[in-house]
Amino acid sequence: MNKNILNGTLLVLFAVPGGLTAQVHELPNLSYKYADLEPHIDAMTMEIHHTKHHQGYVNNLNNAIEGTDAATLNIEELMMNISKYSTAVRNNGGGHYNHSLFWKILSPKPQLKPSGELMEMIDEEFGNFDNLKSELSKAGATRFGSGWAWLIVTPEGKLAVTSTPNQDNPLMDIAEVRGIPILGIDVWEHAYYLKYQNKRPDYLEAIWKVIDWEKVEKNLEDAIQSPLLKKM
Ligand code: MN
Repeated sequence: MNKNILNGTLLVLFAVPGGLTAQVHELPNLSYKYADLEPHIDAMTMEIHHTKHHQGYVNNLNNAIEGTDAATLNIEELMMNISKYSTAVRNNGGGHYNHSLFWKILSPKPQLKPSGELMEMIDEEFGNFDNLKSELSKAGATRFGSGWAWLIVTPEGKLAVTSTPNQDNPLMDIAEVRGIPILGIDVWEHAYYLKYQNKRPDYLEAIWKVIDWEKVEKNLEDAIQSPLLKKM
């Protein structure tokens, strides 16, 4: 059995009859403890979100793809071709991809502002950093029901703010606005309800205290070099 680190997601690879390699998706470990994001995100929300919700998406995804050709694709390839697969693969594969990104951009000791190339691109596209935060908060606040707000790199290599319903994401070939997500904000009630109840805007204000722009800068570097942009 080989172990492979791909974009931060641990995939366990093993040979299956017919020569294809099947991938079993696994819940990623967090680089901080559940209580470390308090008071902005409470420990119980973090623990349930990671061990129940995300684990559930991983389990359901593995069950849905077992023995199918979807089991031969890594998570990014799966998103890029999601129109070929079932609703269960779309919802749970999206859930796995989205949460894996979300945990990575949160930090108890975040860099609170972008710098370098990312800041230059933000100034060019949105005027300034505050405008970008407002647009992201608005995208999250106005997403009816459950979903995500995103900062993406478009196929033209520009930044854009967008949002998707449910566990969809801009990498999916069914998304209205496509691009590689470099920041995602979970606006499902399960992400904030225990602490913020119905007050989604309060959660969207608090989240800026734990988003690490150093991670987002790294995601930008990776996105710009990604071959996936040319396939959109
Ligand atoms: Mn969630």
